[in-house]
Order: sequence, then structure tokens, then C-alpha cells
Amino acid sequence: MKENRFMKVINDADQKGIAVGAVNIFNYLTADAAITAAKELGVNLIIQTSAGTVEHFGADKLFAMVDAARKDAGITVALHLDHCRKTELGKACVDVGWDAVMMDFSHLPLEENIARTKEVADYAHAKGVAIEGEIGVISGVEEDIVAANEVKAGYDETVEFIKGSDIDVVAPAIGTAHGVYKGVPKLDFELVERLGKDDTPIVIHGGSGLSAETFSRLIALGGRKVNISTVVKNAYLDTTKALVESGEKLAPIPFDTRVFEAVKDVVKKHLAVFSGLKKSFE
Ligand SMILES: [Zn+2]
Repeated sequence: MKENRFMKVINDADQKGIAVGAVNIFNYLTADAAITAAKELGVNLIIQTSAGTVEHFGADKLFAMVDAARKDAGITVALHLDHCRKTELGKACVDVGWDAVMMDFSHLPLEENIARTKEVADYAHAKGVAIEGEIGVISGVEEDIVAANEVKAGYDETVEFIKGSDIDVVAPAIGTAHGVYKGVPKLDFELVERLGKDDTPIVIHGGSGLSAETFSRLIALGGRKVNISTVVKNAYLDTTKALVESGEKLAPIPFDTRVFEAVKDVVKKHLAVFSGLKKSFE
């Protein structure tokens, strides 16, 4: 596959030994805030949308919205579909102009995961679109996807999955979880290290709530795309709630501006660590 916008930001990160942040957005405000954060730092960005967000807006409208937000950003902003279990929806995003799609059949037996991911990989590659696949279940809640028990997949199985499915980037089961952590998660750094020596870039899911040190370690070992979603949602909702409860009188645009700043700040703190510009979130 020829290098597209998604593979460009991944390959650029790989050359620099850093990671590109992949930020889940759910409306224009969050897309604009994430892009502004990346722009202020001068780093590239991946904007990602859940399958539910695509269904909510419709692929055409959501694409137009993100495309408007990234216009003239002066950095490269790729658009990616996060965790999708619906083959037709994945293909629809490919058709509309997404730069990459993640198909998540990690809940299925390995052979089926390979076959179903490969079907979309072939479709995407024919149109110059990249694909991410997942093996081993990453626990937690991602939209309607609930994985109670984490299913581990070791190095050999992960390599078999990458080769069989023809994916461009891989989300391995390293022990991260979606949502916010209770306590410190036990991560499989050894798996990241082994996979990091191979050619397929590694995606770190469940990034919200990990320490800056943990991120830096995962990135040093080969993590090239780091997803954040929960911290974005929390900044959006918590700021909205605090503003409403404060009783402060604000017209809609100043209100939105305050929420925008809160989302931008949390994204910026994470991107600064992912890109090696800072060692901590302070
Ligand atoms: Zn995920």
C-alpha cells in the first residue's frame, strides 16, 4: 500500500521514536480542540471516531465536519475509525474518505478474527486506506463493546494474526483497559518490546489514566499510536457540569469556549508526553 495520511503520521513518529496521539472525538468542538492542541505543539494527530459516532452523524456528515476542522491546520491530521465490529460500516468509512479503519474481531477465535479482518484489509488497501486490527481482548467498556475478562494473546499468536490479516498497525493485548483504572495496571512490557522490534507499528489502547512514565516506557519500546478517549469525555462532561452548577451566567459561545479550553488542555498534556516534548503531565 502506498503511504497515506495515516501511515505518514505513524511512520514519522516511528522515525523520531515517538508516538502519535489518537484522540476520540464526538462532535465539532472536541475535533477542533484536539486539532488546536496538536497545532499549538506542532505535532501530527490522529482523530478517531467510534462506530457509534459514525452512526450518530452519518459517515458523510462526520467526514465533512472533521475535514473542515483539519483544513489549514498546518500539521498532518489523519482520520481513523476506532473499534468497529461491523464490516459494512468499516467499508462505508473507507468509501467516504477515512484514512484508516480499525476492525475489532478480537472477541472471535483467531482464525475468524484473521479472516474477517483480512476481508476489510483487502477492501481498504485497494482504495489506499490503512487498517488496524486487534488481537486478545482489551478489557473495559468501549461504546457497546464490553469485555469483562481479558483474553491474552502472546507474541507468536500476535505475529500469526498480523501476517494472516494483512493489517498495517496492530493493537496487541498488553493488559491495558478502556475507561479509568482502579489501581495500577499490570502491563506486558515484554510483549511490547518483542513486537516493537518487528515491522508492524504498535497501538496502545486504554491510554486514559496511565502515568506519563508508563506512556514513555511503552513508546520507548515501540508504541507508535496511543489512543485517548476517556480523559477527553471526562474533560468535556466535567467542565460542562461544573459550569452549569456554578450558576455563572454564560452565553452559549463563551460557555463552549470554556469547554473547548478544558478539552484542548487535557489533549495537549497527553500529546506533549507522546511526542517526547514533556516528561510529565504537569
Ligand atoms: Zn480501544
